[in-house]
Amino acid sequence: MESCPPENSTSAWSWRGRARPGIGFVSIMLSLCPIAVPMISIMTIDLTEPEIHRYSRHILLPEMGATGQGRLKAARVLVVGAGGLGSPLLLYLAAAGVGTIGVIDDDRVELSNLQRQIAHSTDRIGMLKVDSARQAAEAINPEIRIETHVGRLDESNAASLISAYDLVCDGSDNFQTRFIVADAALHVRRTLVSAAVLRFEGQLSTFRPHLDPEGPCYRCLTPEIPPRGAVPSCAEAGILGAVTGVLGSLQATEVIKELCGMGESLSGRLLIWEALAGRFRTIRLPRDPHCPSCGGLHGRG
Ligand SMILES: [Zn+2]
Repeated sequence: MESCPPENSTSAWSWRGRARPGIGFVSIMLSLCPIAVPMISIMTIDLTEPEIHRYSRHILLPEMGATGQGRLKAARVLVVGAGGLGSPLLLYLAAAGVGTIGVIDDDRVELSNLQRQIAHSTDRIGMLKVDSARQAAEAINPEIRIETHVGRLDESNAASLISAYDLVCDGSDNFQTRFIVADAALHVRRTLVSAAVLRFEGQLSTFRPHLDPEGPCYRCLTPEIPPRGAVPSCAEAGILGAVTGVLGSLQATEVIKELCGMGESLSGRLLIWEALAGRFRTIRLPRDPHCPSCGGLHGRG
C-alpha cells in the first residue's frame, strides 16, 4: 500500500555485544577492514563469518563498520504497509541485515499492485501481502527474522505494536493510518521515518521529538487529518511506479542512518523530490512550540 499525500532509540538497543572467539572471525575482519574498524569493535560484535561476508560492503564503510552492522542485526523495525513504499523499504532493510523486521498490512496482492510493489509477483496474486513480502525478503536474506501482522493499525493496537520495535516506518496509503502511527510513535517514544508519494513526487522526513528538543512531531507539520477528498489518493490521481522505489529506498537509507547513528538525521527537515523536474529540495520543518501533541515534551508547554 503506497502512500499518497504528503507528508534509535539509543537507550533501547536490545543489542548486547559479546566477544566471539575464533581466529577465522578476526582474520576475516582484518582482511576486510584493516583500518576502518577499531579492534574494540571486532571484540564486541556478534557477527558470523557468513554475515561478515554478506555485509562486507557495509563493514568497509568507516561510518558504519562492524559496529554499525551489529546494531542493524540487533534492531527491530516495524514497516507499516507492504505496498509501493513498503516493498523497496522492506527489501533493502532485509538486504541490509536489520535483524527483525515487522510488517503489517491487511491487503492481498492484486494485478494493479505489480506496476510498483516490487516485493510481490504475478504468481502471488491473491496472497496476503505480508506473506508475499516475507517470501521476497527471506529469499534475499534468510538470516533475518520477519514478523508478519495481518490487519490494520488502529488506535487499539498501534501503541503496543510500535512499542515492540525500536523504530517504525510509515508507508501507509491513507491519512487516518498515518496519524494513528504518528500519535502512537510519539506516545511510546519511537522514531518515525515517514514517506509519501503521489503522481511524480515524493516526500520524506524523520520525526523523533523525544530525542531532539527542536525536532517536530508529525502533527507539527500536519496538525489535523485533512478532510476526506481534500487530497487525492494514488488510486485516484496515479503514481509513477519508480517514484515509490526511489522514496522507499530513501526511507530505508534514513532508517539505517538512524539505527547506526550515522550522518545527519532528517529530523526537522522535509525532503521533497520532484521527478519530472529531476530536482531534490529540502525545507526546514520547525517544531511548533504550541503543538498539542509534542508541546509537553522536554518540559515545555
Ligand atoms: Zn508536534
